Amino acid sequence: MALLSRMRSALTARSRWAPTRCTPSFRRTLYLAPPYLLDDYIPQYQLISSIDAAKKRSLAYAHLRECNLCPRLCGVNRYEKTGVCLIGAETVKVNTIAPHFGEEPCFQGHNGSGSVFFSGCNLRCVFCQNHDIAHQRNGFDLTPEELAEWYMKLQETGRVHNINLVTPEHVVPQVVLSILHARELGLRIPIIYNTSSFDSLDSIELLGGLVDIYLPDFKVWSDKTSKRLLKADNYTATAMESIKAMHAQVGDLCFTADGIAKKGVLVRHLVMPGMEDEGKEIVKWLAENVSKDIMVHIMEQYFPRAHVGKPRRGKKSDVVEPGGVQATSGTAKSVRYEDINRPVDLDEASAVRKAAEEAGLWRFVEASRHGGFNI
Ligand code: SF4
Repeated sequence: MALLSRMRSALTARSRWAPTRCTPSFRRTLYLAPPYLLDDYIPQYQLISSIDAAKKRSLAYAHLRECNLCPRLCGVNRYEKTGVCLIGAETVKVNTIAPHFGEEPCFQGHNGSGSVFFSGCNLRCVFCQNHDIAHQRNGFDLTPEELAEWYMKLQETGRVHNINLVTPEHVVPQVVLSILHARELGLRIPIIYNTSSFDSLDSIELLGGLVDIYLPDFKVWSDKTSKRLLKADNYTATAMESIKAMHAQVGDLCFTADGIAKKGVLVRHLVMPGMEDEGKEIVKWLAENVSKDIMVHIMEQYFPRAHVGKPRRGKKSDVVEPGGVQATSGTAKSVRYEDINRPVDLDEASAVRKAAEEAGLWRFVEASRHGGFNI
């Protein structure tokens, strides 16, 4: 109070003698930066010490020798045999590496997001929207060092805004080795870990200090649905734990003044036909348990793909869905997964959005209304 009153008297005294027009010494020099706006950004992997880098390298090799890197917990030595994901230790299988313009505007910017689409996956979603990549294991084999050289090509030739690792859950050790190699080669753009959220905590811990942006899907809410549609027993509990750990590492999504995201978490939820109640639970959980300021993309572009809508094999009367769940009369129809064999209704997507707003979420990815980026 004393300081305030001294300042007031000084200002009053000065105003008595000074001209009424503001002089340069009276101009405000302080400003309040908008939330989530960064002045500048240096990727995390450039800041870790060489000792921490060496520790991460040796942990990555240890995980490959006894792989429990995802909740499948295969426990295999990937130098000798493969687990559920069918990918070994020395190389990763990559389908496509290219600047990608199908991502959120804050990731793709003007030059694209430098996307690396890994083949294989540790989930078996019957509706997989990337079925030809994730389930067919097409592509070419790359060592971590070769992968790092591709990151450099994306940065130097593609001038992309980030390296976007798509479906990397089953190749985390190789990804860690590639990032550490790329930092020696001069990589200086953020790393995005673009995941289904079927990650173990060990995986997220190994990635800490190397990943700048986590881009997790939160797919379904009920265990019955995850067993039937993702072929995973414990998806929801795993996704909750993983997303909390990701948020603890990098926080809410932040941008530089050019509108490009540089660090933080953005959660995606693909609204499924007839399953908006699951979406509502997911957004409510995010608001109550992670952050009301978390950025969310409620996606409405679901389209029947992969096994959905394919002709049924066998008689209708004794149908058991893959995963062991007995088909109900509603699903035991002429094609597989009849209940999700249609695009999502816009009312269903709106209901999830409304529930998110009611829960207190307010940062959404949506079409820009002003010809620029939404921050
Ligand atoms: S990453 Fe692959 S080998 Fe390792 S636990 Fe998961 S599915 Fe099994």
